[in-house]
Amino acid sequence: MLPFARVSLIGMGLIGASLARAIRLRMPTVRLTVHDADPAVCARVTALALADDVTDTAAAAVIDADLVILCVPVRAMGGIAAAIAPELSAGCIVSDVGSVKAAVLADLRAALPAQVHIVPAHPVAGTEQSGPDAGFATLFDGRWCILTPDDDTDAGAVVQVAAFWEGLGARTQVMTPVHHDLVLAVTSHLPHLIAYTIVGTASDLEDVTRSEVIKYSAGGFRDFTRIAASDPTMWRDVFLSNKDAVLEVLQRFSEDLSALQRAIRWGDGETLHALFTRTRAVRRTIVDAGQDTAAADFGRASS
Ligand code: NAP
Repeated sequence: MLPFARVSLIGMGLIGASLARAIRLRMPTVRLTVHDADPAVCARVTALALADDVTDTAAAAVIDADLVILCVPVRAMGGIAAAIAPELSAGCIVSDVGSVKAAVLADLRAALPAQVHIVPAHPVAGTEQSGPDAGFATLFDGRWCILTPDDDTDAGAVVQVAAFWEGLGARTQVMTPVHHDLVLAVTSHLPHLIAYTIVGTASDLEDVTRSEVIKYSAGGFRDFTRIAASDPTMWRDVFLSNKDAVLEVLQRFSEDLSALQRAIRWGDGETLHALFTRTRAVRRTIVDAGQDTAAADFGRASS
């Protein structure tokens, strides 16, 4: 049996449109109502027939919904929660897909009425593309969706949201919001920050021309450019909302980078070789766990 009959999505970019397509494919009887702040996106969603109804306001989209999922940048969540609050039915579940969880849970709690269940979630799946055309139905297949309830969250609502994501092909895991934010700071936020830095530095170098950077990018640079092409609004919000965890792992990263700098300066090949051997083993573990293929492009099209 399907966990929800009437689902509403607010925000129809990459993740919202992928969810809509996955719901259409895996749960065709669900009544799907959506809204996006951008009228051009709404028009595109209508043209692609991604939903049963497309509304002009977020509040109109959530009337009679059993499940509402906010698929907008992290710092837009609180404002939408306030806008939809008066229209939510008692017992409705409000969830989200934001890449940061503690700040979002606090924003949702502050804006939503007590008779609504809040179950934050983060599907660890995406690409560097944005917008409704970038979405695809199989984005969540075999990927993890992390649910981050706290002590005040209704346990039955968590079970229902987990069943929903598993019905779309994802695997689910429950974690505290704070632990989620630390784990993702290491596995996602820091790598994006490094990619943004490398691509920015390379394009600012004076002695290497931009055309040389582009021409010889297969040497490793181009994999970073793919990550650094990710949506600027989304990533600005991620770093501002997960400030403490990002600064903590960034401090640790800077210390490790300094140690490598010292090893190179002093010709300490043993240290370099030992680290590179250890990191190669990490890569093998990730491929063995099915989180990427051995293909030489980060497997980002589906990860
Ligand atoms: P996206 O492609 O940029 O789509 C976001 C959509 O939300 C845009 O159409 C945007 O319209 C709309 N929007 C913004 N503010 C709104 C508001 N107040 N009311 C209604 N619609 C609004 O972004 P995305 O990649 O789908 O990301 C959405 C969420 O998923 C973010 O919280 C992100 O952290 C999370 N996430 C992303 C990924 C990923 O890899 N992309 C993976 C997992 C989770 P405008 O363009 O007009 O602003």
